[in-house]
Amino acid sequence: MAVDMVDEGLIDEKTAILRVAPAQLDEVLHPILDPASEKKAEVLAQGLPASPGGAVGQIVFTSEDAIKYSNAGKKCILVREETSPEDIDGMHASVGILTERGGMTSHAALVARGWGKCCIVGCDALKINFKDRTVSFEGIKKTFKEGDFLSLNGAKGLVYGSAIDTMDASENPLFARFMSMCDKYRKLGVRTNADTPEDAARALKFGAQGIGLFRIEHMFYGRNSETPLSKLRKMILCDTDEERKAALAELEPFMKAAVKETLRVMDGKPVVFRLLDPPLHEFVPKGEDKKKELAKELGVSVKEIEKRGESLHEVNPMMGHRGVRLHVSFPLIAETQYRAIFTATAELQKEGMHPHPEIMIPVTISARELSFQRAICDKIKAEVEAATQQFLEYQFGTMIEIPRAALTADRMARAAEFFSFGTNDLTQMTFGFSRDDIGTFMGDYLGNKILDADPFQTIDTKAVGQLVKIGVDKGRSRRENLMCGICGEHGGDPKSIEFFNTIGIDYVSCSPFRVPIARLAAAQAEIKQNA
Ligand code: PEP
Ligand code: MG
Repeated sequence: MAVDMVDEGLIDEKTAILRVAPAQLDEVLHPILDPASEKKAEVLAQGLPASPGGAVGQIVFTSEDAIKYSNAGKKCILVREETSPEDIDGMHASVGILTERGGMTSHAALVARGWGKCCIVGCDALKINFKDRTVSFEGIKKTFKEGDFLSLNGAKGLVYGSAIDTMDASENPLFARFMSMCDKYRKLGVRTNADTPEDAARALKFGAQGIGLFRIEHMFYGRNSETPLSKLRKMILCDTDEERKAALAELEPFMKAAVKETLRVMDGKPVVFRLLDPPLHEFVPKGEDKKKELAKELGVSVKEIEKRGESLHEVNPMMGHRGVRLHVSFPLIAETQYRAIFTATAELQKEGMHPHPEIMIPVTISARELSFQRAICDKIKAEVEAATQQFLEYQFGTMIEIPRAALTADRMARAAEFFSFGTNDLTQMTFGFSRDDIGTFMGDYLGNKILDADPFQTIDTKAVGQLVKIGVDKGRSRRENLMCGICGEHGGDPKSIEFFNTIGIDYVSCSPFRVPIARLAAAQAEIKQNA
């Protein structure tokens, strides 16, 4: 309608852009529950709207069952307390995901949003009985069992106890025209958070100008049998440097292949590879059969595997041995990632392609951490250059996701050629709210109007936003043309984008399905700013 009205001369382009709410684009991109049928259905519970769209499927409680249902051609909804990397295959096989715990940046929320899959998290009213394979909802008499139907409205966080009709959002032929209209008016760049060639290709179709965050750990989250999760586990649970070296050598080809194929899809466009971030214990196997499998591979007992896994346990893993800290303790792990990236780059150059890798260090707090890593990175680059006879170029940068890094950004900019603000962690660290447990009390804060919005969804301009602005200004006081991006979930949130547009951010990066929303929001922000 917006494009029609422009064509008919009723409104100008700017007015058309301002009249389309970004949330309306979301509806165009995802299948939704049929509003007429939804109105008639009974709401069982409401959780956090982690990823939009509608999903209708049968309840399953494990990843294995989700895969079985999917293989049998049945649509299922994975119901979990929360999800972890071990659930990835099941999440992929499900049409929707519903979790009892977790906030807007929990594992389930991030992964589902990345895939454009309907997801509701932090659904407090949900009580799962794994033993009986049933689920109940506070205040609802009926108990649901495996195989019963649920419907999810991911845009509103609503759960229904019946199969509601869905509507396929039809391809709007005017969509592309509307989006290019937006591109004419925006200044803010829009990249995507993507970790597979498929996601990268999807994001390109949606207009992404590069990848702002390729989380290396996501290649271990196993969407198919080729994934090297078992090899990563082996590397984590081995005992000596020698064993670790051997395990890393097994991992490297997988890393290189994932990096190379993504760079190939993004030919000519920048791709930010972010070093392995989560605490290692996240990858320690939990299931008995996985433990047995690994024990066999490493030639040790299951007890020994458990002992090694326990030694990685941390009371507060989000503030623990993760990100750059991991790579300070184990430079070999960093070396492998650098080598995979540079070798992939060199091979593509030999094929005549134009890869643009950017390497980003997570969870940093000091310029010295960066210099320490840069030395390793440049050493590996020189080795790969010598071996491949290719001259390699790259950008070396850092995430700014801890208040200390933002407040000392002038020093960080000495060692970093670009910044990307990890506003998920920056919010977590500034508020002291755990991003994984926030679901239990965020509702009380919003209900009592202590907070106007979930700060993990919409940037808190008063404190977190101020830290971003300080980071940008201080960073540029040291390095005038410092490229500054946003790669936290706020990068796809229209209100946050409006704020970022005012403080000199160069680009936002968000999941592929949010790219058009970000393009529209960036155009609206620029038009409003100049009105
Ligand atoms: C962030 O913290 O904002 C970020 C993008 O990194 P991750 O979500 O992987 O911690
Ligand atoms: Mg982070």
